[in-house]
Amino acid sequence: MSALLDELRALYADVDALMAPYSCDRSTDCCRFAVTGREPYPTPIEREAMVRALAARGVSGKRARALRTATGPERSCPWLDDSGGCRVYEARPFGCRTYFCRGKVPRREVQTLARRLTELAAKHAPRDPFPCPLTQAHS
Ligand code: SF4
Repeated sequence: MSALLDELRALYADVDALMAPYSCDRSTDCCRFAVTGREPYPTPIEREAMVRALAARGVSGKRARALRTATGPERSCPWLDDSGGCRVYEARPFGCRTYFCRGKVPRREVQTLARRLTELAAKHAPRDPFPCPLTQAHS
């Protein structure tokens, strides 16, 4: 598992390098799903990384489970904290990293990285590697 999570971190580093010119200003506008009309679809391995990141911040067990599905005003992301920041910014999923507030999406490069993520998700969970809406992810 730790090798797969290392692979995920390496993939995220490549995503962040690709996105660097469009740097995220952490406005969290994209974290309010009623406003954007969409939400990220993390794969199981990405959700695992998020859960681990949350646990590293001292939130686990029932409290973490309750938090993961509790959307706020404007259907805001359950991972948004009370001060309006992402609780797991360094472990945020692919969909959050490739959401553009401004600028033109480098579509082909993003698709190449998305294929790498699909392959990694299949290695991690061969029976159910599929992404699901962030607000419906219970694991
Ligand atoms: S995981 Fe973090 S960055 Fe992504 S939508 Fe939720 S709060 Fe925003």
